[in-house]
Amino acid sequence: MAGTRNNKKKESSAAGKAGADSNTGDVWVVIEHEGDLAARVSWELMGEARRLAADLGTQPAAVVLGDGENSGQLAEQAISYGAAIVYIAAHAALSPFTAEPQSRALAGLVGKYSPGIILLGATTRGRDLASAVATDLETGLTADCTSLEIDPGTKLLRQTRPAFGGNIMATIISPGHLPQMATVRPGVFPIAKADAGATGKVVTYRPRLAAVQPVRRLHYLPELEDEASLQGADVIVSGGRGMHQARNFSLLEDLARELGGVVGASRGAVDAGWVSARRQVGQTGQTVRPVLYVAVGISGAIQHLAGMQQADIVLAINNDPTAPIFNIADFGIVGDLFEVVPALITEIKKRKDGAGAGIVFDRVVAEQTRKEAAK
Ligand SMILES: Cc1cc2nc3c(=O)[nH]c(=O)nc-3n(C[C@H](O)[C@H](O)[C@H](O)COP(=O)(O)OP(=O)(O)OC[C@H]3O[C@@H](n4cnc5c(N)ncnc54)[C@H](O)[C@@H]3O)c2cc1C
Repeated sequence: MAGTRNNKKKESSAAGKAGADSNTGDVWVVIEHEGDLAARVSWELMGEARRLAADLGTQPAAVVLGDGENSGQLAEQAISYGAAIVYIAAHAALSPFTAEPQSRALAGLVGKYSPGIILLGATTRGRDLASAVATDLETGLTADCTSLEIDPGTKLLRQTRPAFGGNIMATIISPGHLPQMATVRPGVFPIAKADAGATGKVVTYRPRLAAVQPVRRLHYLPELEDEASLQGADVIVSGGRGMHQARNFSLLEDLARELGGVVGASRGAVDAGWVSARRQVGQTGQTVRPVLYVAVGISGAIQHLAGMQQADIVLAINNDPTAPIFNIADFGIVGDLFEVVPALITEIKKRKDGAGAGIVFDRVVAEQTRKEAAK
């Protein structure tokens, strides 16, 4: 193990020296994948990398770490999402994912090509890998960013994230340390538009890694369905403490079914034990950006808003006209949810039978059509 650490240190200092000369290296995105399937957040970050690289006058690049099996396919996809260069690190020890060899391979790539910025998804794997690499490279890492900007004067990456329980937004910089590293939660940025005709350069790198690694993956549980369903959903119907009991969530299941959506929840409802934590939306839950978000019996605490205010349309149902959720809602219904939700379900069913859609659902259809056309 001592030998391993020493090698890593050598790579780190090489990276540090190369990077310390300038803040304007390329902007890299580490493509998280399982086999040939990339995590959606990687493509969300690719769009962001393009924007940041344009501001820096450098290039957006992607990094694919794996055994080489699906790397070519993933590289093509990365180029279609805007990568000008794709670095493929191929070694049998890089698949399946474990943090140790992947962090060594990434640190090696950094030492050789000196990026200015590295972005990873704030997923279980992304967090694991990012913290290991940042430690090896002795550089700064800002977790769970919600916005990234280039400072026009210093060219440093301004990394903004909620702090102190979400009561303030902190902007963090990492002067004197390169690369600047950040993780971003899935759903914070819109997915970049793919261009099948885009071209880019592919660079293959063969890391020197031990064939046998100290950590082995014995079993793999794919992403939990609850999380996956919230992430990709066009319509989310979320319930809060105003639902009063677990069994009342069946009302929201009915509404979600009529709207072709899925059920989410506030932390209030999760803490009460009514809904699985995997359905929680907000700062310590998931960040979602559906076309329609229906907040039912949710007050609109800042930590909840942090996870859903990127929705195209927000409909709030609450019996308190002063509830903060109404400040960000596009449509609000003040009333008892136990009367409003059944009435909504009846109305939607009626309109589906030919009476024409209402104003909220007209806008939902228009947004869905716009998004489809933009794909
Ligand atoms: C560090 C930290 C992280 C957090 N992360 C999250 C997070 O990720 N997600 C999150 O949601 N929260 C989070 N919270 C908690 C957050 O601050 C709030 O406590 C929580 O969002 C409140 O949940 P709620 O809106 O369901 O409950 P409440 O604030 O109790 O609101 C219930 C609402 O229901 C309405 N209501 C009651 N009965 C009815 C009825 N019959 N008809 C209609 N309306 C009714 C009430 O008027 C009220 O507005 C976090 C807090 C901290 C400190």
